[in-house]
Amino acid sequence: MDRRDFLKKGIAVVVVGGTAGGGITRLLSGTNATVVRPPGAGEENDFLAKCIRCAKCVQACPYDSIKTAGLGDGASMGTPFLELREIPCYMCEDLPCVGVCPTDALDPTLTDAAKMLLGTAVIVDREACLSLNGIRCEICYRVCPLIDKAIVIEKHAHQITGRHTVFEPVVQKEVCTGCGICENACPLDDTAIAVVPTQRGDKAAHYDYLRKQERVEL
Ligand code: SF4
Ligand code: SF4
Ligand code: SF4
Repeated sequence: MDRRDFLKKGIAVVVVGGTAGGGITRLLSGTNATVVRPPGAGEENDFLAKCIRCAKCVQACPYDSIKTAGLGDGASMGTPFLELREIPCYMCEDLPCVGVCPTDALDPTLTDAAKMLLGTAVIVDREACLSLNGIRCEICYRVCPLIDKAIVIEKHAHQITGRHTVFEPVVQKEVCTGCGICENACPLDDTAIAVVPTQRGDKAAHYDYLRKQERVEL
């Protein structure tokens, strides 16, 4: 039983009835979100122009987080990308993936993993999120390597009962690196938290992009 199965089973007892009847609202459906690129990758076209598909970053990653795109992966063939739900980026201190890139497609000036920007985590399914249903989950909060910085818990009264306290995970966009450890750990079959990939080189442009996506509030 892997960690997610374990968490799922462990939490199943309290889930019963908790999210029943909640329709799935995929906040990000219909956006232009593409694949997540390795740390240090900039704007997509710039990245594609520089990346020579050598797979050195793929080989350098100790967690096998980086894959090489093949047919049907939604990315240019041979380019490196991450599927965070499957294997997130563990934010290695020495960023070995960046260090081996021979063409600077992964920015060599990125030396602090806390400053990388693979994307930004967003609660994509508020109806399904256990914490937002009044169930003490908060797994995404607890696993975050930047706990209490990139994601915090805000407490407020449950909208329906008015009696329970809801412990809502709230991503702090200025700090979140998009590592996807939260996305990987969410115990639901379809994660309620997911990383929106970086689309535009720098953070400010990335947030502008995100704000333009309907219903994504950042
Ligand atoms: S920082 Fe580490 S875990 Fe993340 S992609 Fe690079 S090598 Fe892999
Ligand atoms: S997003 Fe997932 S891990 Fe986070 S509180 Fe909601 S159900 Fe739990
Ligand atoms: S992606 Fe999730 S786990 Fe990673 S820094 Fe952001 S909130 Fe934390």
